[in-house]
Amino acid sequence: MTDFLDSPLKTLKGVGEKTENLFNKMGVYTVRDILSFFPREFKEYPHPKTIDDLNVGEMASVLGMVIRPIVVRRFRKFSISLGVLETENGVIEVVWYNMPYIKNTINRNMPYIFYGKVSEKNGVLRIEQPALFEPGEYENIRKKPVPIYRQTKGLKNKAITKVVTQALSGVDEISDDMPSYLLEKRNLLSLSSAIKLMHSPDSLEDLVKARDRFAYTELLEFFLEAKSLENGMDVIPNHFNLEKHEITDKVKSCLPFELTEGQEEAISDIFSDFSSEYITERLIQGDVGCGKTVVSFIAMLRMAENGYQSALMAPTEVLATQHYEGFLSDIEKYDLDFKVALLTGSTSKKDKDSIYERLASGDIDFVIGTHALIQDKVSFKKLGLVITDEQHRFGVKQRKVFSDKGDTPFSILLSATPIPRTLALVLYDGMNITQIRTLPKNRQKIKTAVVDPSLRTKSWQMIVSEIQKGRQAYIVCPLVSESENSEGENVIDYEMKLKEVLPDSIKTSVLHGKMKPDEKEEVISRFASGEISILVSTTVIEVGVNVPNATIMMIEDAQRFGLSSLHQLRGRVGRGADQSFCILVNSAPKQNENAKKRLMCLKESNDGFFIAEEDLKLRGPGDFRGIRQSGEMGFTIVDIYQDANLLNEAKEDCEEILKEDPALKKPENQIFLVLKERGKNKIFTNL
Ligand code: ADP
Ligand code: MG
Repeated sequence: MTDFLDSPLKTLKGVGEKTENLFNKMGVYTVRDILSFFPREFKEYPHPKTIDDLNVGEMASVLGMVIRPIVVRRFRKFSISLGVLETENGVIEVVWYNMPYIKNTINRNMPYIFYGKVSEKNGVLRIEQPALFEPGEYENIRKKPVPIYRQTKGLKNKAITKVVTQALSGVDEISDDMPSYLLEKRNLLSLSSAIKLMHSPDSLEDLVKARDRFAYTELLEFFLEAKSLENGMDVIPNHFNLEKHEITDKVKSCLPFELTEGQEEAISDIFSDFSSEYITERLIQGDVGCGKTVVSFIAMLRMAENGYQSALMAPTEVLATQHYEGFLSDIEKYDLDFKVALLTGSTSKKDKDSIYERLASGDIDFVIGTHALIQDKVSFKKLGLVITDEQHRFGVKQRKVFSDKGDTPFSILLSATPIPRTLALVLYDGMNITQIRTLPKNRQKIKTAVVDPSLRTKSWQMIVSEIQKGRQAYIVCPLVSESENSEGENVIDYEMKLKEVLPDSIKTSVLHGKMKPDEKEEVISRFASGEISILVSTTVIEVGVNVPNATIMMIEDAQRFGLSSLHQLRGRVGRGADQSFCILVNSAPKQNENAKKRLMCLKESNDGFFIAEEDLKLRGPGDFRGIRQSGEMGFTIVDIYQDANLLNEAKEDCEEILKEDPALKKPENQIFLVLKERGKNKIFTNL
C-alpha cells in the first residue's frame, strides 16, 4: 500500500512527463501528495436564468448565442473582447479580459450556457469573463458540486480533476490507522471515504463530514504535541529573585506617553507572574498597534535590573531589526547600563561567535533575534525570560527549547490575533492570558462601510478623490488570477478593470503570493514610496506592509473572509494622521442575511476581541464557507471558528488517551506516536 502512495504521479494512467512536471511545480510529487491536494473550493452551478432575473454582482448562467463577431480592443498590456449575446428575452453583453483568442474559439450562432459574474456598464447588463458550456454538459455538471483546485499555467482544473480521479481509484486499499473507537465515538468517516468525499462529494453535507475527519485529526495531533511538551514541565518552582524594580519604575514614569489601561494591566500581570511560586507562561493578545512592544521592554528591563538575561524572538529579520533598533535607542534615551544584541540568520559568523560568547558569559542583557536564537550553539548564563513576538501556535514549542538550554525561563507569547477567550483557553491550555483591549488614545477610528457590488464604481470614485488628495489605497481580492469557474474577484483581472476606468495618471500594481519574493518586495517598496497609488492585492498584505499614507482599504467579496482576517486587513490603514476608510464589498446573494450581519460587526466595532467573539457566535455549521481555511494559528485544515466544537472534542479525547496510556504504548495508540513526530502539513493519520 505504501508503495502505491509513494509512487510518483507518472504511474497513474494518463499522466505523462509534462503533466508530472507541472504538478511538481505545485509541490505535488506522489500519489499521496495528490490525494491530499484538496480542492480550494467547490462550485455549485445555478439553473440558467432569463436576463430579466439577473442581479448585478451575482454569479449567473444564461443560455444564448453570440450573434455578431466579437470585438477585440487591445491596450498596451491587455485586451478586452466584447460580444453581444442574444437570448430568448433580449440581448446582453459578454466581456472577456485578456482572452483575445476567445473570438476564434466561440462558434457563433451556436447556443452555449454562459456562466459568469453579472455587472452593468453604461446601463447595459453584461456577463464578465464567462465560462462556456454546451447545454447538455452544463446539466451534467449541475448534478454534483464541482471541485476547484489550485491551478498553474498549463494545468487547468479539468486536467487536475482527471488525475485526482485516477488516484482515487486506488484509495479503497488504504488502511485507516485511526483507532476505530475514536471514529465511532466522534462519528467520523473512515480515511478512504473521507479522502474520496473531500474531492468528490455528492453534496456539501458530504464535504462537511469529510473535512471534519481531517480537522479532527489535525487538532488531535496539535493537542498531543502540546500536552507532551508540557510533560514534566508544568510545575517548576520560581527560583528567580526579581525584587528590584527601581530602574523599571523610573523608565515607566519617563515614557513619552501614558500607558493604556490594557498595557498597565499586562505589565502588572507579568510582574505578578514574576513573583509567583512557579515559572509561568503568559499569552498577551492585542490588536496590531495596541503597544505590546513597550510592555515587553518593561518586562525585560525588570529582568535585567535583577541581573537576568532576556531573549525576544521575532518571526522575521525585519521585525527583529526594528525591535533591536528601538531597544537600542530606548536604552540610550533612558541612559541605561544594559547591553543589547541582534542575532539573525544574516549576522556574520564573526559577530555570531562573539554574541554566543557574550550570552554565555552574561555580558549581554537583551538579545533580540529570529529563529537563529534557538540554535544549539546559543547558551545563556542566566536566562530569565523569553518573549516570542507574533507567534501563533508554534510559539508553544519554544519554551521547551529554551528550557533545554538551562533553567526554564519565564515565557511570554505576544499575539496580534485576538481570538475569543473561550477558544484561547482551549488552545493555550495551561497559559495565563492577558487581553489588551484598549488602543492608544491618539488613534482614529476607521470609517467602515458595507456595500453591495452595485456601489463599486462609486467606491472607485472615492478612491480617486483620496488619491487626488495625495493618499493611497489598497484593494483586496480573494483570488490571484482567473481560475476556471472560480467565483470571486481576482487581482489580475481586477487591475485591468480598474485601468479601464481610471485616469492614466493613477498608477496601480498587483501583489500576490505567487510572485517571487524580490518582485513582492519591489512592489511593496514602490507602494511605500508613493510611486504606486493603488495596490491590488490578495491577503498577503496582512503581514508586514506598513504605509501610513494609505487611507483606503477596499475588500472585494468580503463575505468570503473570516471577520478576524477582515479586521486584520483593515488594520493596514488608519496608521497615519489622516482619516481612514474601509469599504467592504458584500457580493453574497441578497437573501444571505447572515453574510451582511457578519460584516456589519466590522462597521460597529474596532475591537478585535469583540469582532472575534461575534464571528464565533455567527458562524454556525450551516455557514460553511468551503475548505479553504483562514490559516489562523498555522493550521492546515482547521479553522478555529468553524471547528470550535471539534476543538473541544479533540482536546477531551487527547486528555483521555494520555490519562490511560501516558507513554502511548498500547497498540491502538501507536499511531499517535507517529502523529506526534511527523510534523505538520501531513493530514492523513497513517500516511
Ligand atoms: P504592537 O502591539 O502592534 O506590537 P507597537 O508596540 O509596535 O504595537 O506600538 C505601536 C506604536 O504605538 C508604537 O509607535 C508605540 O511607540 C506607540 N505606543 C505604544 N503605546 C502607546 C501609548 N500608550 N500611547 C501612545 N502611543 C503608544
Ligand atoms: Mg508588534
